[in-house]
Amino acid sequence: MVERLDPLVAAPPAFETAAAQQILSGTFGLTGSLTLLAGERDQNFRVDTPDGQRFLLKISNPADGLATIDMQTAALRHIEQADPGLPVMRTLPATAGEPWTEVTGPDGRSYPVRLFTFLTGGTVPDSSLTSAALRSFGQTAARLGRALRGFFHPAADYEILWDLSHLLKLRPLLAHQPDEVRRAQIGRVLDRFETRVTPAVPGLRAQVIHADMSLGNVLFDDGLRISGIVDFGDMTHAPLVFDLAVAIADVLYHRDDAIDAAEAMIAGYISVTPLEDGEAELLADLVAARLAMATTIITWRRGLHPDHASLTRPGNQAFFDAVEAAGIDEVTRRFRDACRGLPYRRSATPELRERRRRALPRSPLFYSEPVHLVRGEGVWLFGADGRRYLDCYNNVAVAGHAHPRITRAIAAQQRLLATHSRYLHEAIVDLAERLRSTLPPSLDAVMFVNSGSEANDLAWRIARAATGRSGAIVTECAYHGLTEATHALSAEVWSDAGRPAHVATVPAPDSYRGVYRSDDENWPQRYAAHIDGAARSLASIGLAAMYAEPACTADGILVPPPGYLREVARRVRSQGGLLVADEVQAGHGRTGVHLWSSQATGIEPDMVVMGKPMGNGFPVAALVVRSGLLGAIPERTELFSTFGGNPVAGVAALAVLDVIEEEGLVANAAEVGAYLKQGLLKLAGSHPVIGDVRGIGLLSGAELVTDPATREPATALARRVTDAMRDRGVLLGATGPAGNVLKIRPPLVFQREHADLLLTTLDEVLAAVR
Ligand code: PMP
Repeated sequence: MVERLDPLVAAPPAFETAAAQQILSGTFGLTGSLTLLAGERDQNFRVDTPDGQRFLLKISNPADGLATIDMQTAALRHIEQADPGLPVMRTLPATAGEPWTEVTGPDGRSYPVRLFTFLTGGTVPDSSLTSAALRSFGQTAARLGRALRGFFHPAADYEILWDLSHLLKLRPLLAHQPDEVRRAQIGRVLDRFETRVTPAVPGLRAQVIHADMSLGNVLFDDGLRISGIVDFGDMTHAPLVFDLAVAIADVLYHRDDAIDAAEAMIAGYISVTPLEDGEAELLADLVAARLAMATTIITWRRGLHPDHASLTRPGNQAFFDAVEAAGIDEVTRRFRDACRGLPYRRSATPELRERRRRALPRSPLFYSEPVHLVRGEGVWLFGADGRRYLDCYNNVAVAGHAHPRITRAIAAQQRLLATHSRYLHEAIVDLAERLRSTLPPSLDAVMFVNSGSEANDLAWRIARAATGRSGAIVTECAYHGLTEATHALSAEVWSDAGRPAHVATVPAPDSYRGVYRSDDENWPQRYAAHIDGAARSLASIGLAAMYAEPACTADGILVPPPGYLREVARRVRSQGGLLVADEVQAGHGRTGVHLWSSQATGIEPDMVVMGKPMGNGFPVAALVVRSGLLGAIPERTELFSTFGGNPVAGVAALAVLDVIEEEGLVANAAEVGAYLKQGLLKLAGSHPVIGDVRGIGLLSGAELVTDPATREPATALARRVTDAMRDRGVLLGATGPAGNVLKIRPPLVFQREHADLLLTTLDEVLAAVR
């Protein structure tokens, strides 16, 4: 095996120029002057014909075997067909038509000879490669892999020591490494390889690869553009990702900025061929393996052939030093990120926080120590520090963070068509029909916008136009949005100026600390009865609409019984107003009963607003109304939002509905939600600071009080609890008029084991912060 790789052992052919000239004319029918080129394994001549053409005459080392020659020739032809733009040599047939032939050498042995087109350009030093050139290197490596994808040849099962799969065979050579620190490092690379890479290799996508995309085998023109890929002598059937690992390690071996430079090569590679997760995860280990291999083999060979020029290069192993300094886990993280093609460069958390503070002075952050997130998966969020957080807060990622089916649908549509909705397209129509089918038949007209605020804002315009009135009713701590109109409907965030004149508030149905409590008879109806007084206070302008958030989330996650909303609807209508059900929080199955929380009450709202979870993170929102109401908006007034219901948003929202249905997320919300609520009630039994536990499905609130008797809100404690939970890797929030209600609203893929983790962590935290 070693013999095959070692040009020192298998000396190159040694034909006289005259003999080569004879081959050229006899076999290929050409005449020209020959110039001997450098070659470790073969004998190569540049051919200059009298008419100014250039070729390469290659007399191969018989040690390579005819099958290998045949494979290389076939591979070059395959590449030429698959990607004609790739700068590889083209084989030129001999006069008899065959792609290669054999000639007898001065020593009487048979030598394979071939004639190729001549590639211009030359090799360049590693330090001269700009990041654009590195990117293009990665890109070219990927194109070569892609061009070889469908290629096979029986000789491709050939084994060489340089094949990364055989890294562990180097163990005995480690003794030749004189540097103790390096020896230890290589030992660790081998150990990690054994546990992480070796078991994964059989599962990696494999094909015939070039296997030696090193700096010596790639030619550049004067503009640092790649003009040639040479030396297919190491081609073998191996995992595709090895090609990239070898290129990164070999090109950057001596560079001080190797890790940064590797990111540029990876970026180029994935612009052609995205890496699979398993490949991305191993890339750093494979690069380290190649570095370890190169270092070990070179050191060992230097010992064998101390005088050989090519083995006495300066031993600067900057890349290997950089990996040692950064730690392989950090390099793994960086390469994994690079393989994902992050469109930005990650900053250090404190620096990012400061930049954000300056550039976005009014943009709020959660927690005393904000969380710097890089990635999400299911119920998990991952921080820049590599920490994993259990997400008990985000209703946006209703189907779980980065749901593969939804992200695939979004990406596929984005690649295909992303424009506004003034054209015919299936997605917006499919989605509108789908939403209609989930709602009472009276709600038959759909409008798409981009946020809950916008949908509520539009609802407000329609309500005013349809009723000819201009008064609104909301609950005392409601939140419905950020626009001028919806801010007016958001008592939670009113400024010191207080209540706008056209808005009246009603007490939210708080049966724990409100004016009517759970032991008061008919308490839900008594709360609803406040509608009448509120409407009376708006008598001069009339009641256009009541905005109801069926779960009263901002009011402290109150989730009143169905009778409340039924009574609200009855009274609002008897006052001539419309009922807007704001399902931004409670919709999309969160309550575990229906897709829309208002359905459980049996009422038919006049308008339904949906947003937040609708695209699992892709911005999309909708307003569904009784079409009769739209008559009040003049025909010439277009109801259109540029991004509203665009094909990507449509596809995202459809995929979310599919996933909710197919993964049974509504039922899961009910099942796991009930389990979680039981757990919270149990915790309340041992922690008197939990004054009340409430909620439905996967929308839960735990109200913290300083004293269960007085029910004094424990606002500061709630903040300490959310901070301490964050520090222990569990993310939740706090809400309600006093900010003392722990808000638990996870993605609907939340399972019992996640609930258990939340509960045990909360148990610890409540014991610790008391
Ligand atoms: N309505 C409710 C009930 C909400 O909770 C929110 C957002 N928190 C909105 C409307 C506004 O939605 P957006 O932030 O998407 O504009």
